[in-house]
Amino acid sequence: SASLAAKEQGLKYITIEQEESLGGAIFKYPRNKVAMTQPVHLPIVGLVEMYDISKEELIGFWLRIMQEQVIPVRFNERMETISKTEHGYAVKTSKSTYETSNILLAIGRQGTPRKLNVPGEDQAKVIYRLIDPEQFRGNHVLVVGGGDSAIEAAITISEQIGSIVTLSYRSEAFGRIKPKNREKLEVAITNQKLRVELQSNVKEILPESVKLELATKEIIEIPNESVIICAGGVLPTPMLKEIGVMVETHYGTKPAAVR
Ligand SMILES: Cc1cc2nc3c(=O)[nH]c(=O)nc-3n(C[C@H](O)[C@H](O)[C@H](O)COP(=O)(O)OP(=O)(O)OC[C@H]3O[C@@H](n4cnc5c(N)ncnc54)[C@H](O)[C@@H]3O)c2cc1C
Repeated sequence: SASLAAKEQGLKYITIEQEESLGGAIFKYPRNKVAMTQPVHLPIVGLVEMYDISKEELIGFWLRIMQEQVIPVRFNERMETISKTEHGYAVKTSKSTYETSNILLAIGRQGTPRKLNVPGEDQAKVIYRLIDPEQFRGNHVLVVGGGDSAIEAAITISEQIGSIVTLSYRSEAFGRIKPKNREKLEVAITNQKLRVELQSNVKEILPESVKLELATKEIIEIPNESVIICAGGVLPTPMLKEIGVMVETHYGTKPAAVR
């Protein structure tokens, strides 16, 4: 959207993206995940109304626009530092250095996945994003986190034949999650499709099990073949501060309990 706006304004610009595709957070969504969108006005393109659309369709839509409008995105190029120069800024990337008078940061809030820092986290069975829920058919899976990604991961895996899913969240209630996800979660809990442990903490990840501390402080060990950690991301705050961007953190209001 920002690149389209730059083109519409007749600016001389380039767009850099550290991944190999457009899509941002959506590029990292699970396969076939439905993105819930709202009508949006895109520069040059106009009003886009899509509502519920699969990840693949949404990325296909953007790629089409990029080709039609000849948007020059430099993929696989990461912005590393920004420094002030006499006439503007120097942007150092993994491939080059650009001189520019203005920079628009549209780097999202994903950052680098936040780790739990517990023993055993370095095993291959521990992942930080869900791509293909089907691979967890028949598995004991632990999902950790309390946001939309954790809830969507837990629900989609619980729908796979033979899967046994535990969702562990350290707080006492789920926060600002989408109403549809809250509804689906309640249905899954009622139908005993997944087990939710609020106020719980992962203590250790073993090759065939995980140790979980429950709200009662009891430590249980449950069978486990995969752990999916959706605990948010660590933002590049130090780099942003260094270049003079102020970062403010806003915390949501206390949510109602789901159980
Ligand atoms: C699992 C999940 C489900 C979601 N479901 C929905 C949904 O159904 N509907 C909805 O509206 N929203 C949903 N969201 C939220 C939505 O994905 C975000 O609001 C949206 O992607 C934000 O867009 P953005 O362009 O600001 O940031 P992002 O999508 O995060 O894009 C930022 C881009 O910047 C790139 N980047 C970052 N740092 C650098 C760097 N240093 N150099 C170069 N490139 C860099 C990243 O690779 C990325 O491509 C969901 C989010 C998650 C995680």
